[in-house]
Amino acid sequence: MSSLIAAQTHCDELERLRREAAAALLEAKKIRRTRDVSIDEDEELTRRSHRKINALIKHLLSGHDGSPCPAGDRPIVKTSVLRDASLVRS
Ligand SMILES: [Zn+2]
Repeated sequence: MSSLIAAQTHCDELERLRREAAAALLEAKKIRRTRDVSIDEDEELTRRSHRKINALIKHLLSGHDGSPCPAGDRPIVKTSVLRDASLVRS
């Protein structure tokens, strides 16, 4: 586990995408809470949030020249690290 934590590095792009996705979600939540939105506007708010989240996921999965972001904290982007670790051990 400590090797997984040590393998994490900082990624400015990931941080930016995370902030943008969080901001889009919060903005949509705030707009929906403060006034009634039309179905079209609601759809646009959802679309905007999804676009930001998709950009974040795309970066996590293949954002570094087709490779997963090394700063990702989900197991799905750690498969190669886990595989490498088991190869070293056996
Ligand atoms: Zn990255």
